[in-house]
Amino acid sequence: MSDHYVKVKVQLEQMKSFEQDEEEKRGEDAEEPVLVSSPPASLSPESSSITISGTDASRASMTCKHRGKSRMKLGKDDKKSSGKHMSEVSLHGSAVSAHTEKNLNRLHIKGTGKILQGKSETNGNYVTIHHESSKSTQDTRREEGFKTRRRRPVTVDTSKAKTSLEALKISIKQLKWKEFPLGRRAACDIYWHGVSFHDNENIVSGQVNKFPGMVEMLRKINLSRAMRTMQEVFPEEYDFYPRSWILPEEYQQFSSQIRMVKDNDATVNTTFIVKPDGGSQGDGIYLIRDPSDLKLMTGSQAKQAVVQEYIQKPLLIDKLKFDIRLYVLIKSLEPLEIYIAKEGLTRFCTEPYQEPSQKNLSHVFMHLTNYSLNVHSGNFVHSDSQNTGSKRTLSSVLYRLAAKGVDIKRVWSDIIALVIKTVIAVAPELKVYYQADIPPGKPGPTCFQILGFDILLMKNLKPVLLEVNSNPSMRIEHEQEVAPGVFEYVPSPVDEEVKVGVIRDTLRLMDPSHRKPTIPQLRAGGGEHGEEIPMEAESQERSRDEIGALPSLCLKQVYPKYTKQFSFLRLVERIAALFIRFLGVKGNMRLGPTAFRTFIRTCKLSTSNFTMASVDILYIDITRRWSGATPESREADSL
Ligand code: ADP
Repeated sequence: MSDHYVKVKVQLEQMKSFEQDEEEKRGEDAEEPVLVSSPPASLSPESSSITISGTDASRASMTCKHRGKSRMKLGKDDKKSSGKHMSEVSLHGSAVSAHTEKNLNRLHIKGTGKILQGKSETNGNYVTIHHESSKSTQDTRREEGFKTRRRRPVTVDTSKAKTSLEALKISIKQLKWKEFPLGRRAACDIYWHGVSFHDNENIVSGQVNKFPGMVEMLRKINLSRAMRTMQEVFPEEYDFYPRSWILPEEYQQFSSQIRMVKDNDATVNTTFIVKPDGGSQGDGIYLIRDPSDLKLMTGSQAKQAVVQEYIQKPLLIDKLKFDIRLYVLIKSLEPLEIYIAKEGLTRFCTEPYQEPSQKNLSHVFMHLTNYSLNVHSGNFVHSDSQNTGSKRTLSSVLYRLAAKGVDIKRVWSDIIALVIKTVIAVAPELKVYYQADIPPGKPGPTCFQILGFDILLMKNLKPVLLEVNSNPSMRIEHEQEVAPGVFEYVPSPVDEEVKVGVIRDTLRLMDPSHRKPTIPQLRAGGGEHGEEIPMEAESQERSRDEIGALPSLCLKQVYPKYTKQFSFLRLVERIAALFIRFLGVKGNMRLGPTAFRTFIRTCKLSTSNFTMASVDILYIDITRRWSGATPESREADSL
């Protein structure tokens, strides 16, 4: 046996005893062995890398990854482990053969030696062995007594998944990952929450499928505020969001603006839709034609709501109004990464559409596309087909429009722009929430989130944003009246097709072992965006999984892919960054009143109109405003 074999064996024996110690400490959750584990702490200081160069003429190369809960057995224990675990080589087969062919003349072991919970990949906890041998890698392994083991499956805590559980279970099964339906004492790689970031408290590692503050940010009032801020700065860019007023605080503005319009032109016949702030599924929504029709309450009874210009001329199919539910993944907030699902749903009204009139204002099945409402109409059509019925796939609708000569590429690229602009509008405040909940430097998970965008196509094909759901329904069953007045949940093939794909591919994108540094994919020339439409089956983006049985990703990256066209819109985000920095959201960076004065002076912002006294007042105003939005009283205010 050559010198370096002996050295490696010594190292591995040391690792083994270290692993056994760690395993005892960890208890019953050490179910996932790997080929080679981290070196002992004594050999490998944090993030250290041990390189042992061999002079042997034999050549082999092996790349393997250490996961947090690894176990390693050598010698006689090999028998026990080898049957259970697949070779890592089979997972990285091409890499192995490439290394082998390159005849590398060294052996390299790298690892942090630290037990990490669900974060191994981000901490560079890799073990790499480049070992020269003229024999095949597998032969060498056999000779060395290595028995290969399967990569540890990604672990998902599904205990709080609620109504997304069914689709999530199917997705996890397809990915061959490991589900923990009752939660787990040890950390999981992914926590799937049904409602909000706070569904599980005290998560210090891994990834959670909800951002802190997202529920608050996407409530109707806050979304309207964020959109209005952007409309004030970039009116043309944000003309896809209907004019909105916040009630009760903007009632006077609303009524005087409408009066003025009507006084100027008596033929103007606008309609407005009133939506309660916390409402969903069409609850409490009604249409009005005059501000005096508002059902306003006073005092503590006053209902927070948004009143919005009603889109009177929607695009119709089969004479019916419909809207689009598009699934959007925020993969990361910093840097901003947005994916759009190429397949979505369309929800149809169940009564033929007519422009609003005093007579039909209350016809919900004509004006509101909510599935939860229309399912109770006698006209609702449940269909197993994706292109008929009251709920259809987006691609089937686009296909139909294309057949009528509609430029659906244009429609799709407008939709992508709408999504990116909307996320850019809410990102600044989301970052404030995020920093407040998970301060940098403190242990905490990273977050991602699937959002449900509700989009209406106008008759002229312009997409309009109706709302964004922080918690889109991921149910794959639908309610059906099985006997008069008796409703039951039955499987819905259309929902399953779309939603399982979205969840599964979100998981694939969040797979901790696939994470790599984000490289903005700027397109040369920064030309038109949205060249790919949902009807097209293939994505350019492929993950390693796709080499196997899984279909190509149904999620398409749109940001940073189209950064160039939209970067200028991130102005408010930069202001928010200053806000976060100077107002101490990051804890230790709080800016005092004197420092604020210095800041103003340094930036040459004070003038005869903006005196130092005004600067002090501004400082007090801003700090007061933020203190109302600290984690303890987060509902209070927006940026
Ligand atoms: P909810 O959260 O209660 O579903 P939405 O804002 O999605 O509230 O509105 C419910 C439905 O009302 C939408 O699905 C759409 O059919 C209709 N709607 C909402 N806003 C408008 C609007 N501005 N113009 C036309 N229809 C609208």
